Amino acid sequence: MNRDYYEILGVSKNASADELKKAYRKVAMQYHPDRNPGDKAAEEKFKEAAEAYEVLSDGEKKAQYDRFGHAGVKSNGRGSGGGAQTAEDIFSQFGDVFGEDIFGNFFGGRGGRTSGGRARGVRGSNLRIKLKLTYSEIAEGVTKNIKVKKHVVCNTCSGSGAKDKSSMQTCGTCGGSGQVRKVTNTFLGQMQTVATCSTCNGEGTTITAKCGTCKGEGRVYGEETVSIEIPAGVQEGMQLSMSGKGNAGERGGSNGDLIILIEEEPHEELQRDGLNVAYDLYISIPDAIFGTNAEVPTIDGRAKIKIPPGTQGGKIFRLKGKGFPAVNSYEKGDQLIHVNVWTPQHISAEEKAMVEKLGNSSNFTPKPEKNEKSFFDKVREMFS
Ligand SMILES: [Zn+2]
Ligand SMILES: [Zn+2]
Repeated sequence: MNRDYYEILGVSKNASADELKKAYRKVAMQYHPDRNPGDKAAEEKFKEAAEAYEVLSDGEKKAQYDRFGHAGVKSNGRGSGGGAQTAEDIFSQFGDVFGEDIFGNFFGGRGGRTSGGRARGVRGSNLRIKLKLTYSEIAEGVTKNIKVKKHVVCNTCSGSGAKDKSSMQTCGTCGGSGQVRKVTNTFLGQMQTVATCSTCNGEGTTITAKCGTCKGEGRVYGEETVSIEIPAGVQEGMQLSMSGKGNAGERGGSNGDLIILIEEEPHEELQRDGLNVAYDLYISIPDAIFGTNAEVPTIDGRAKIKIPPGTQGGKIFRLKGKGFPAVNSYEKGDQLIHVNVWTPQHISAEEKAMVEKLGNSSNFTPKPEKNEKSFFDKVREMFS
């Protein structure tokens, strides 16, 4: 079971961006692998914090999480920090949170790969797709294999963008660290600053001959079949995010995310309202009088319901638990069946005579019960 993100970082739901950053920094430093060598539990906590920060620091993902919990921000695979599996990855992802000073002070040098280290290429952009789901797919949850057209890693050069190994050379300016140290004289004395190497753009390598397939970009436009796991109970307009399944980055840069926008395919007979689903049932006047067994469509197949004798038009029957499940909880909606008594619009002369006879009987005069629910109460009940 995933722990609550707010709990992991020890912040309230309305923590500011600054508070969030501070809280994350605190937790990350406490559990950093360098300070807890070989401690698996600490490493897990460290990754967990990165995952929590990744979601809560992103307005869109935070809104999803607040509404739908972990299911709303489900990422592919072992969900941690946007696919970031190692401390290095996490630090390159959130380098700005930590900053040079903190690295210097707390973690010592990381072999020239401080705070972000070499920027490997350029991160790919996020990709949005729409996914239309039927009521039954939504009710059950479904795995969809979708062909996504996007930038994928170039197979020829494995994403490096270089023609071959020999055309990828360690940057002469920075010696491969991606960073250059500058010493400047100030009135306080000599100051040493670290800047991104401009020769290699921080990548640590320079390419002398580009890959012919991708023209040095390290990625090509192509297609990938993505397996998208949709949790039961999603709704129209909801967005799911799969980290790392968006466009491939340039020259080995990390992938963007795939954002899936949920759309509902309208059902022919049922109408969704939140967790509930409504159905308009029409019965004949004799069935209303004598009672009947009616078959009604449900999200998953058909169900039989008993219409008791003397059922009034407007009556609402409830099939408990036959609605939609809630995302991330065991709650389930109901199916509401709204009874309409069908009034014939064309009748024969013979029928006309019979109905006229019935009309004279006092039994056919409306006698609504005093405690009968009002129309508005019924509508409210139907959609509550
Ligand atoms: Zn360089
Ligand atoms: Zn290539």
